[in-house]
This record gives sequence, structure tokens and C-alpha cells, in this order.
Amino acid sequence: MTQNKVKKYFTFIEIWAWCDICKEMIDLKVDKDEIAKGISMGIYTKEYKHTNPSPDPNDLDDSSINEHTIYAYINDQYNITEVKSFFGASPSLPELREGIESGDVRIPIIVKDVPKMSVDLGMVTAEEYKIMKICDGMNTIEKVAQIASNSVENTEIIMEKLRKKGLIKIIKRT
Ligand SMILES: [Zn+2]
Repeated sequence: MTQNKVKKYFTFIEIWAWCDICKEMIDLKVDKDEIAKGISMGIYTKEYKHTNPSPDPNDLDDSSINEHTIYAYINDQYNITEVKSFFGASPSLPELREGIESGDVRIPIIVKDVPKMSVDLGMVTAEEYKIMKICDGMNTIEKVAQIASNSVENTEIIMEKLRKKGLIKIIKRT
């Protein structure tokens, strides 16, 4: 696996995120203001639709010439915690399964969205809020933990609390 890279500047960061469809590093500039706004909403996801900037002209089956999306999850330290690339609206089951050897793929999704104010009102903790916002249906529990820079164990405990509060549900796919 190729390592994603970040270069931090005063007002923006430049990232090189590995696109598994293009098999290339995708170079993106992201304003720090944009990231700060996203982080205050729980998580910042840089979404970038593109086609392969340098497709292989000899490969007629190269699907990367078709438009696809890259998602780069960026944390408050301006580091990339996860990158995913997919065609269409969301990743397919095999793409979601990446990194899971066996068993069900568990995908948490938001059932009831709550405003940031809920944290101030004590309805959810800041940690719960952050985890909840990563439950965008694009990620397994294991990936949510990775994106949040949290352990899978702790993430599962937080998710169980969110589930009991009726804010998320966990979909199992085999
Ligand atoms: Zn790509």
C-alpha cells in the first residue's frame, strides 16, 4: 500500500491520496478553513470526483477513465486517516470488506441526525458526536475507528451507546 502524504502550509494543505482505481496518487489542495468547518461538524471528508489524470493508453479495459470519487478523511491534525475510491454513490461490498478477513461486514449508519448543539446540551458527548458523524454509510466499524483514531473496542462501546439512544443503527452484510 502506498502511503498518503500531506504537506502543511499556512492557509492550506496539499495532500497526495492514493486512488485505488487510478492506481495513482491524486494531488489535492485543501483550505484549512474548509477543514476547520468540517471538523466542527464532526469530521472533514474531502470529496473529489475525477478521472484518471494519466490513463494507460494500452489498457483498453482501464475503467479509471470513467468518473469516480475519492474520499479523503482528514483529522484536526491535518493528517489523512482514510482514503477510499469508488464508482457511483458509495463503495461496493468488496470495497467495504477491505481489511476484514472473515465474518459479517458491519456498517453503522445515522438514523437520526442531531445538531452540534446536542453536545452542549449534554445529549451526546463530543466523542460520541464525532463517531456518529463518521457513520456515513461508507465505512465499517473498523474503518470508523481508524478514521476517528480510536480503538475498535472503544468505538464499539460508543456505537452501542449511540444505538441505544436511537441515533445510529448497524447494518450487517455478508
Ligand atoms: Zn482515481
